Amino acid sequence: MPEHAISGHPHIEVRHSDVHGAGAFALCDLPPGSLIGIYTGRRYSADEAHGEDWDNRLTYLFGLSDGTTIDGAEGGNATRHLNHACEPNCQAQEEHGESGQLVLRIEAIRHIRAGEELFIDYALNVDANADPQDYPCRCGSVSCRGTLLAPLVTSA
Ligand SMILES: [Zn+2]
Repeated sequence: MPEHAISGHPHIEVRHSDVHGAGAFALCDLPPGSLIGIYTGRRYSADEAHGEDWDNRLTYLFGLSDGTTIDGAEGGNATRHLNHACEPNCQAQEEHGESGQLVLRIEAIRHIRAGEELFIDYALNVDANADPQDYPCRCGSVSCRGTLLAPLVTSA
């Protein structure tokens, strides 16, 4: 049963995805820069996030540059259903909300046609000793990294 016309997100619907579980799909053509939605969820300060055990909900987490973590598994909206792809058509962009706090704007980064599934690159950051195979990616893109983890950054 698809959830059509999600309140606050008139441009997307959430339904079964062939990639993983539920996915978010464009209901109309979306030009680059289109707002998909603001990523919401429970907010944790850097201190609070430190004491949490995130194992079961890693893929719903967004870390912001101010140290805040947003957990979309709690109080999140439809944007939490965007699946990961290594060649995404959307991105998460930080901006300052009305109250001055950082918010995450999910927006299109290229022209998206009606019916396309929406993806972002999760680029998960986990323990340095985590096994990338524990977070497998099956997005099928040519440049697939094979994992949801962030690309390894080699420090100079
Ligand atoms: Zn991939």
